Amino acid sequence: MATQDNKTATQDRKALLEGLRVELQERLQRYQDHQHRISGALDKDLEEQATQAQNDEVVDQLEDEASAELAQVERALARMAAQLGECCEECGGLIAPERLKALPYATRCTGCTALQK
Ligand SMILES: [Zn+2]
Repeated sequence: MATQDNKTATQDRKALLEGLRVELQERLQRYQDHQHRISGALDKDLEEQATQAQNDEVVDQLEDEASAELAQVERALARMAAQLGECCEECGGLIAPERLKALPYATRCTGCTALQK
């Protein structure tokens, strides 16, 4: 029974991560579309250009965050594929199931994450 539960939890987590990956890829695409459109607008007045530059910065930051998150999702999926999804990449110990539930793309145990900070 316990193994069955584990299997279900792993499948749930994988489905969740795959959904998250699609969502992040779509979000990144939108940011890139946005940046592309703005770089084409050259004949705006200065004030508008300043606002756009600010928007660009915000979008750049969002894009960085989304791509970092996507990289982490890919990493967790790769570790799951290698049967290491529940092992901490730092100490090799088991990551608590509650932690994986709360943070499906976690690849480190709570102890190692706390040390990192
Ligand atoms: Zn650890």
